[in-house]
Amino acid sequence: MIDSLIEINGSTQLYALIGSPIRHSLSPLIHNTSFKSLGINAVFLAFDSLDLKEALSGFKALGVGGFSVTVPHKVAVINYLDEVSFEAKLIGSVNTVVQKRGKWIGYNTDVVGFTKSLEPFRKNIENEKVLVLGAGGSARAVVFALINNYDVGEIFFYNRTQERALQLISDFASIKPDVPLRFVSSDALPNLGAKFIVNTTSVGLASEECLVRPDFFDSKMIVYDLIYDPIKTVFLRYAHATGAVTINGLDMLVEQAAAAFYLWTENIMPIETVKKNLLEKVDNQ
Ligand code: NDP
Repeated sequence: MIDSLIEINGSTQLYALIGSPIRHSLSPLIHNTSFKSLGINAVFLAFDSLDLKEALSGFKALGVGGFSVTVPHKVAVINYLDEVSFEAKLIGSVNTVVQKRGKWIGYNTDVVGFTKSLEPFRKNIENEKVLVLGAGGSARAVVFALINNYDVGEIFFYNRTQERALQLISDFASIKPDVPLRFVSSDALPNLGAKFIVNTTSVGLASEECLVRPDFFDSKMIVYDLIYDPIKTVFLRYAHATGAVTINGLDMLVEQAAAAFYLWTENIMPIETVKKNLLEKVDNQ
């Protein structure tokens, strides 16, 4: 409960989340734990709204310090911002907005979130083949992170809608031309020899679905699912059963939130406290 976390008074600064649906969002827990832990007089509230334009003018009128953006507004919000960071522009979506001197500035903190969450595996993926499943907003952030912040050998893409993957490849191909980006059909997936596999699709989100068969995985792979609900998707369970290393989306969630938190407050999020509270919450669900 918010009031057990934060003492609200006349000077409390409001930060927000806008999206729909947002009832199950973990962002209020992450940010309010951080405000409380650091003694910052601020509160983070989630607003379920499909009317982005009206919500944003309300945020401006009320002096909201910054806000997170989630489905379905990550692309459309760009139309209402005064400035957009280079990577958010290239990725084509914004998940964090900061208010600076009355201007809204948009960022995509999924890039830093993914980069930091993958740091312990840097050596293992160096010069290796990578397979990215999906070509939506999070796939674009993942690819931006991989080609700018890691030395991977080659990146393959599989996506249900081929045109979307081809568009991604064309948008990112010139950033680091020595890292080939290639589309693959579902038939070619079993023989790719990719060492690092990332699921960026929403297949498996709050469900028992999986994009690939159990025999797709082998023990030498590092398998990352961006999904954190459930913590162990079928995708990760199949991979784990072969002895592969598995990574779920929880660390990325916290790291992207920490980057947003820093942009808003210039304070470092107490990551370990946040993770402890999150795991308690997720375990109790
Ligand atoms: P988008 O809507 O932008 O993209 C969705 C992707 O999933 C597309 O590639 C889409 O394919 C694919 N997809 C959806 N349904 C199916 C299906 N039935 N069969 C095959 N492919 C399907 O979403 P995002 O990229 O923003 O988010 C994707 C996932 O990543 C979500 O589960 C989200 O929770 C998670 N995420 C986690 C984060 C974290 O911090 N851990 C951060 C951001 C996202 P197509 O193009 O064919 O429609």
